[in-house]
Amino acid sequence: MSGDTPLIQARDLSAVFDVSKPWLNRMLAMEQKRFLTAVDTVDFDIPKGKTFALVGESGSGKSTIGRMIVGLQKPTTGQVLIDGQNLFSITNEKQKLAMRRRIQMIFQSPYASLNPRWRVKHIIGEPVRAFNLLPSGEIDKRVEELLDQVGLAKSDGEKFPHEFSGGQRQRIAIARALASNPEFIVCDEPTSALDVSVQSQVLNLMKALQRELGLTYLFISHDLSVIRYMADQIGVLYLGRLVEVADRDTLFDNPRHPYTRMLMDAAPHIDAFGRTAEIVSGEIPDPINKPSGCSFHPRCELTADQCRRERPEVRVFGPEKARVACHLCTA
Ligand code: SF4
Repeated sequence: MSGDTPLIQARDLSAVFDVSKPWLNRMLAMEQKRFLTAVDTVDFDIPKGKTFALVGESGSGKSTIGRMIVGLQKPTTGQVLIDGQNLFSITNEKQKLAMRRRIQMIFQSPYASLNPRWRVKHIIGEPVRAFNLLPSGEIDKRVEELLDQVGLAKSDGEKFPHEFSGGQRQRIAIARALASNPEFIVCDEPTSALDVSVQSQVLNLMKALQRELGLTYLFISHDLSVIRYMADQIGVLYLGRLVEVADRDTLFDNPRHPYTRMLMDAAPHIDAFGRTAEIVSGEIPDPINKPSGCSFHPRCELTADQCRRERPEVRVFGPEKARVACHLCTA
């Protein structure tokens, strides 16, 4: 592909789940089938070596998008293009394996994602074996390099996951993700289970690795301070839809969508890592029965009649080309 093609392209991604009761129960209660649209026509690009961050409240669809982007979940509609290749159209097993090697994921809970019965050197070396990247005699040396790269000692390879702190376990998870020499990593709330003092160390490590290895990240978080530190571009999700997409400085200097402003007002100390955001005002509506028109209208202080009737289209604003889905946004 040309050097201008973003490494990752999410095109019109939607995820719709059938959440109906069993057939007999529905018949007895004379109920229709019920569907939940967890992700609604989401579009974004991530250029090579950059970080795109998704932010939104719990239930906004962030993790579902992450799972679709790594190929763990097929979208109901839309495409995920990696280097221009549709992830879900690859049928050749060899090509599938080659693609899986290029994409890795880091989860919120490092302990749950590490096999407690395996020594750390086995955990980190496992992707090298699975993708057949090195002869078996060279794997231990590679594991030592990876331990060093994430700031752990060679001797840590002999230990088990329960012998480490939360921050160290996340370092192990990062080393394992790096073991297959990936180009792209989806980081799903990677520091939200960690103590405040440890969060910044892990984020600094992730930034350093990105510079060193040219990694591309999709970074998922509910914490605006973390997002501001990590992201080049940010997408704000509300009930599965991207309501604003802009580069980091544009979004923080000039948030255009009322929901983005609400999130920022609820996080007054955005320069301090790990502050828990205050509760944003209003309840998130039932995602199965989304409000008509703009689904943010019951919580928006600017709501007009048009907002209740019509779904706002995404429009482009300013020289920075911010994308905003709001009827009343004018600049
Ligand atoms: Fe608020 Fe209307 Fe804009 Fe929705 S479209 S965010 S309700 S002003």
